[in-house]
Amino acid sequence: MNYSYSALSPGGSGGFGGVDQHNRCCGNKAWCVKDICGIVCVIMTWLLILFAEFVVMRLILLPSNYTVFSTINMIIFQALAFLAFASHIRTMLSDPGAVPRGNATKEMIEQMGYREGQMFYKCPKCCSIKPERAHHCSVCQRCIRKMDHHCPWVNNCVGENNQKYFVLFTFYIASISVHTLFLVLTQFAECVKNDWRTCSPYSPPATIFLLLFLTFEGLMFGIFTIIMLATQLTAILNDQTGIEQLKKEEARWAKKSRLKSIQSVFGRFSLAWFSPFTEPSCRTRFNSHFYSV
Ligand SMILES: [Zn+2]
Ligand SMILES: [Zn+2]
Repeated sequence: MNYSYSALSPGGSGGFGGVDQHNRCCGNKAWCVKDICGIVCVIMTWLLILFAEFVVMRLILLPSNYTVFSTINMIIFQALAFLAFASHIRTMLSDPGAVPRGNATKEMIEQMGYREGQMFYKCPKCCSIKPERAHHCSVCQRCIRKMDHHCPWVNNCVGENNQKYFVLFTFYIASISVHTLFLVLTQFAECVKNDWRTCSPYSPPATIFLLLFLTFEGLMFGIFTIIMLATQLTAILNDQTGIEQLKKEEARWAKKSRLKSIQSVFGRFSLAWFSPFTEPSCRTRFNSHFYSV
C-alpha cells in the first residue's frame, strides 16, 4: 500500500482543512511543541553547554601556555559544541513524523484504497488514521510515525523524521563530555604540579569548585548520552523502536536487514551521516495503514 505521506495531508480532502498550525511556529515553517516542562529542559541543556564553554575556554584553554595543545583542543571543543547545539536545534524543530489530525474521514479512507477485508486503526485522541508503527504522544498530542519516545531534553518526540538528528545529538554530547573530562584532568594535573594560584585566573577555591562541577556535569551527561546512544543504535539495528521494545510488540511489519534499517534512518553512507544539516536521502517510509484480517 504505497500512498505518499502528502496525499494524506490535511491540505487534501478531509482533515482539518488548510494548513494545520498545531505544534508549529516561525510562520508554520518549524515544528515546536508548546510544553513548558520541555522548554525548561531545553533552556537547562543550553545553559549547561554554555557553562562548559565558559569553564573550558576561560579557565583551561585560554590561559594555557601550551599554544599548540590549547589551539588543537579549542578547535575540537568548539566543533563538537557547535555540532551538538545544531543537532539539538534540528531535533527540536523537526516534525518527528506527525500524522495529520482528523484525517479519518470517509473520503480519505476511500481515497487511500480501502478494500473489503481490510481493517485500520483510528486514533480516538487525534482522529487520525494510524499508520503501522505509529503511536500517539500525549505531550505532542499527535500520532507520530515510528515513535521511539518523547524526550523532554529536546522538547520533542523522537520519530521517523528526526531520529538521525537525535542520534547525532547524543553522539556529539557524549564526545564533548569525554573531551571535557580529558581537559579537566589535564588542568587538575597542571594545577597540582605547579601552583593553584597561578594555574587559573580565579582564586583556588573558585577554580576547584568550577572544575569539580564541570567534572560532575561531564560524567552525568557522558554516562547518560552513551547509554542513550547505545540504546538508539541497538533499536535501529534491530528495526524496533523504544516503544515497541517496551510494549514487547510482536513485529507485524516486515523487519529490514541491519544495513537497510540504518539507511532508513541515516541514508546511504557518506560524511553526511555526521551532519545535522543534511536530511537522509533515501528514506523508507512506513505508509501501511491497512491490516488484512
Ligand atoms: Zn493520535
Ligand atoms: Zn511527543
